[in-house]
Amino acid sequence: MSVLITNATLITVDDDDRVIEDGAIAIDDGRITDLGATPEVLVRNPAPGRTIDGAGRVVAPGFISTHTHVGYTIFRGRAEDHGLNCVVGMYIPMNTVLQREERCAVGSLTYGELLRSGVTTVLEMEEDADVYAPFVERLGIRSAMGIMTSDADADAFTRGEYVFDPKVTEAEVKHAVEFAETWHGRADGRITVMMAPNMTINVSPELLRASRREADRLGLRLTSHCGWGEEEYDIVSELHGVSPFEYLRDNGLLAPDTVIAHGYVTDEHNTDVFAHSGACLAHCPLMNATRGQIAPLLDYQKRGIPVSLGIDNMYGDYFEVVRAAVLMARIKSADATAILAADALRLATMGGARALGMEDEIGSLEIGKRADLMMVDYGTFGLRPTLDPVQNLVYHAHASNVELVMVDGRIVVEEHGLVHADGRELAASAESNAQEAWGRFVAKYGGIAAR
Ligand SMILES: [Zn+2]
Repeated sequence: MSVLITNATLITVDDDDRVIEDGAIAIDDGRITDLGATPEVLVRNPAPGRTIDGAGRVVAPGFISTHTHVGYTIFRGRAEDHGLNCVVGMYIPMNTVLQREERCAVGSLTYGELLRSGVTTVLEMEEDADVYAPFVERLGIRSAMGIMTSDADADAFTRGEYVFDPKVTEAEVKHAVEFAETWHGRADGRITVMMAPNMTINVSPELLRASRREADRLGLRLTSHCGWGEEEYDIVSELHGVSPFEYLRDNGLLAPDTVIAHGYVTDEHNTDVFAHSGACLAHCPLMNATRGQIAPLLDYQKRGIPVSLGIDNMYGDYFEVVRAAVLMARIKSADATAILAADALRLATMGGARALGMEDEIGSLEIGKRADLMMVDYGTFGLRPTLDPVQNLVYHAHASNVELVMVDGRIVVEEHGLVHADGRELAASAESNAQEAWGRFVAKYGGIAAR
C-alpha cells in the first residue's frame, strides 16, 4: 500500500542537507517515490493508499547503529559502574550460564527499544545472535547480524589465561557459517549476516583468517572490536608480537568491508594502520564515556577513516548516542563548535549506511531509497520553539518523542508503540529471564562479577 506523509518538516540528510518545511514524502513498494513541498507532491500523488498528516512533526532518516549487542541489556544496572572490568568479570563469564531463550528475551526487548527510538538498522554482533533472527523478521527492523565468535576458553580467559582450541575454532566458524547460509538476505533482504570475530584478545589468528575466508566465499561483510584498552595492547603484543590493529590487519580483518568498534586507545602508528586499511569505525561515544574514554573522532575523520555511530549495549535511547558524539568531540578538542548537529546526524544515518555498504539504499530521504524513516512529534515539552529542526532533533529529542517509524516502507512503530510486538510483554519477559540468569551467575561465581 502506498503511503503519503504530508505537512511535515523533512530533514533529508541528502548531499545538500536539505530541510523541507511543509514537506510531503510518498512511499510505495518499500521505497521513497517522491518528496518535496506538500502541494506539489499532492498533485503528483492524488490517490495514495493512506495519508498521514505530519503537521507539527519532523520526518528524518532512521538511525543506524553499527555496533550493538542487544542481549547485553542483561548488564543494564550491573556493568555501568564496573569500568572495563565488566568485560572479563561479567560479559565473558555470563556466556557460560546464559541460556539461548534468556538471551532471546533480553535482546528482543532491546530490538524493540531501539526501533521505537528511531533506529531502523542495527548491526548486531553477539554469541548466539542467530537466536534473534525470527524476532527481527517479525518486528520489522533491519539488521546486519553476526555470531560473535571467539576460540579462547572462557573459564581460562576469566583467570587471565589464553587457551585456544582448534576444535572450538572450527565449531565457531561452523556456527557463523550455518547462520549465514540460513538467514543472509532473508526477511525481504532486511536481514544480512556478517562474520564477527569478537576481539583481538580472545580470537586466534586461525579464527580471524577463517572469518575472512568465509566472508569472501559467502559475500559477507565483517566486524570486530579493536583499540579499547591499554591491556589489549599488552596482551596482543605478548601473544602475537604486534599491536591490536596490526594483528587484525595481518589476518584480513582490516579492510573496506570491515566495521571496527571503539578505537579509543590508539596512537599515530595504529591510526595510520587503520586509515590505510579503508576499514570503518563504529564510534560508540556514550559507551566510551561510561568507561571514561573518548575516541579521537576528529583525528580519524581528518585521516579519512569513515565513521559511523553505535550504541554498543545497555542503553535504549539512541538520541543519547547522537548527542554524546557531539559532546565528546567537543570535550576532546576543547572546541565548542568541533562538530555540529548536522554532522552528528549524518554520522548517525549516512555514516552507518556507508559502513554497511548500503549508502545507495538507506541513510537519507531521497527518491529511490528504501523508506527507512522516523516521524518525531515536535508539539511537546522540550522541542518547542522549533527555530532549527535539526538542532532540536540532535540536542533535545528523546526516544519518547518518536511517534512513527517505517522500515522498508512498512509502518513498524505507530502512536509511539511497536506494531508487531507488545512492549510491556517484552519488558516483563526480559525481567524474569534476566533474573533467572543472574541467579545462576551469582551461584557459580559467588557474586555479580567473576573477578
Ligand atoms: Zn562491543
